[in-house]
This record gives sequence, structure tokens and C-alpha cells, in this order.
Amino acid sequence: MDDTLKNKLLFQWKNASAVMEDAETKAADTYCRGYIDFLNAVKTEREAVREAVIMAEKHGFVPRQSGAGFAPGDKVYLNHRGKALILCVAGKRPLGEGLSIAAAHVDSPRLDLKQRPLYEEAGVAFFDTHYYGMVKAYQWTGIPLALHGYVVLKNGQGLNICIGEERGDPVLLIADLLPHLAKKQMEGPAKDMVKAEDLDVIAGLRFCPGESGAGAVKLNILRLLYEKYGVTEGDLISAELSVVPAFPARDLGLDSSMVGGYGQDDKVCAYPALTALFSLEEPPEYTACVVLADEEEASSLGVTGMQSCFFENFIRDIAREKTPAALHHSLCISADVNTAFYHLYADVFDPRGDARLNHGVVLFRYWGRGGKDNTNEASAETIAALRKILDDAGVLWQTGEGGRVDAGGCGTLSQFITSLDIPTVDLGVPVLSMHSPFEATAKADVYMAHRAFTAFFKRV
Ligand SMILES: [Zn+2]
Repeated sequence: MDDTLKNKLLFQWKNASAVMEDAETKAADTYCRGYIDFLNAVKTEREAVREAVIMAEKHGFVPRQSGAGFAPGDKVYLNHRGKALILCVAGKRPLGEGLSIAAAHVDSPRLDLKQRPLYEEAGVAFFDTHYYGMVKAYQWTGIPLALHGYVVLKNGQGLNICIGEERGDPVLLIADLLPHLAKKQMEGPAKDMVKAEDLDVIAGLRFCPGESGAGAVKLNILRLLYEKYGVTEGDLISAELSVVPAFPARDLGLDSSMVGGYGQDDKVCAYPALTALFSLEEPPEYTACVVLADEEEASSLGVTGMQSCFFENFIRDIAREKTPAALHHSLCISADVNTAFYHLYADVFDPRGDARLNHGVVLFRYWGRGGKDNTNEASAETIAALRKILDDAGVLWQTGEGGRVDAGGCGTLSQFITSLDIPTVDLGVPVLSMHSPFEATAKADVYMAHRAFTAFFKRV
């Protein structure tokens, strides 16, 4: 069979290392320097929204004034309660013809402090935690941790907290058991190795000046927090404080072909969605929209999650009486990660169906679990529209199954967007070591996500 026919008939995985020109590989490396900086600036959804607003304003976006007009080329954003963000570039076509929407989430798995987190035991002060999102508890022991968050005082004043990121800042630790005494621990199932309730963070050892005995160490931690931020133990109740890995994102692999870092699920899709939107020099044909949502790792519930009506309300504000048509004719990419195949855990992966690292963005029609439950299955028409956009732009892409049937499962934002009558398909970057404190992505795939979203926003 000659090659032309073979290329025509077969749909094959293509390795970025084989098909990308040197100049494009260099462009991917340069692009990912910005991505790594972004990861290092934002570890929580609030930080992501804050940074995205700064980036947007630099690109000429202004806050959306409810009820104002919306003319082609207008660039607006809506900061939704500091934890979710909608950005829009008005297109040439009327809104009733639909929008191009890319929706990513900016929350990541982490350990949240409990409502009354601080306690003292045997002369050591601890922060008690309640994990957020799917985590393997044992991965959070024995690594440097930082404290990020936001405290609101009774007078309504908000304070950003960040300890453990600056050079010279102290970091925190969840202690693990030494291997010498871990015989029993190591024989048990991994889920019991470190109990979620035991993910307590060591905060300090020293007495508060002038105090001694029980409670003096806890008091000292409160003193330090008070001196730095002016917060008391009571203020920690009206707070969102999280413990996240303290190490920075950086180049990964001796060839620097990958990005290693915390929180890439789903900032590895949020960042390319933003850069694609910012790269639009002319008003696009269809209004281009990026949504950065919160709470995806906890079922998208809550007022800043995608199950809230904030996005629909935004569309109502810009499209008015054309809202049903605008929703109906829109096309949405649920920009979320998928898993990359890994040979050492081949028994849970589909060797023919799962996405590969360094083989481009993953277009996945469904994920879910237990017979396509907890997912949106995109229609053939929606997939066809995306295939065309990606192929026409020469974007490297692949498909993914998200593991073997019934090996586990996952959901994304897409099911909540389809509830608005918006055809939606998942497309994102394959991730290795997903939901671990140090996730890995291929630079080529991250760059392809930027190119994919750019092509999507420029669709005609
Ligand atoms: Zn996730």
C-alpha cells in the first residue's frame, strides 16, 4: 500500500518530537516560560483570578458594566466574587449566532485548614486540615508546604495570606513515619497508610514570649499571624486557608521537554485559554469567551462553581432577549486535562485509546464512570466541528479514554455547560501524575493547547 493511501485511511498518534519543526519546538519552550511563571504566581483560584485580571487589563480588557452595550471588538471581564472570571471579546456576528467559549477551572486539589485549625499537642503547634479534591494523602507528607489564602475580618476587610513562597520564608511540613518503624504501615492498603484526618501540618515549637506551659506554642503561632496580618484565632473561621506544595514549577527532564509543577490541573488549560484570547488582534467572527471557574474539584457546586448561574446571567446581560439563541448556537470547549498513558501502570490504561504525553492536545468525547455517568458525551456534530478547526490550523491533537472502562473515572465542567443548551466538548492537555503535588505535562502539548484555543476563537 502506498503511503498516500495509508496516510489518508489511518488516524495515527503523532509524536510532537517527530512532527514539530525546530522553530516550533523553540516557540513551545518560550511559551512555557510564561506558563511556568503563571504557575508560580498562582496556586489557588483567588490568586489565578487576580493574576488573570492583571493580564487582561494589560491587554485592554475592562470590567463589564451590567446593562452597557457590547460592540464588536469590546474586551470585557467579569470578576465573579474573586474566585471565578469571565472574559469576552465581542465578535463581528450578532450574539444570537452564538459564542466560542473555552471554560477551564482554576481550583486545584489541596489541603484546606479546618475552621478551628490551630491546636497544640506535646509542645508542638499544628494546623488541622480537611482535604479538597481527590488527593492521595500519603503524597502530602515529607514535602515543603506553603500556606495560601484569604481571610475576611468582621468589618469586611479582606487579607491575602501567603507564607512559604518568598526566599527566606519558612515552610510547613506534614511529618511521615520513619521507615524503620513503618513495618505495619507499609503492609496495609495505601489508602490507610496516611489517614486524611492525620494530615496535620506542623506549625511551630517555640513559646510565646512571656508564656510557658500548655498552650504557649499555639499562642506564639497566633502572635506571629497577628503581627504579620493582624488576624486572630476567631478570624481564621471566616477564612479560606489552604496548604499547597511550596516548591516552584520548573523545567522537567534532562531535555527540558516537560513542565513539572503543582496545580497544572487545570491551569495548564486556563493559561492557554487566556493567552489565546489575548492574542486576538482583530474582533473574531464569533464573540470569544473564556470562563475560569472554581469548585470543579468538588462537583462544581457553590456560588463560584459552574453549577451556579453566574455564567448564564452574564450571557443574559450581554445578549439580552437573544440569550436563548446565543446559548443554543454557541460552541464550548470544556478545557480540562486528561490522563496520559503510563506503561508502568498499564493495567488501568487502555493502550490503544489513551492519550500520550507529547502527542498534542486531547479531544475527549466523554469521561465519566460506570457507563458514561457523570459526564457529557459530545455529539458527533460537535466533535466534527472541532476536528475541522484543529486540522485546518495544523494543531497536533489526539483522543483519550481516561483509562480502561470501569478502572475509575472522572467528571469535568462540560456537563454543567450543556445544561445551558450549549454543545460542549472536552479538550485539554494530557497530564502525568495528575492530582499529585508535582504534576507533569509536555511543553509541546501545552503549546498546542494555546494554538488549539486560538484556532477555536478564530473560527469562521
Ligand atoms: Zn482534577
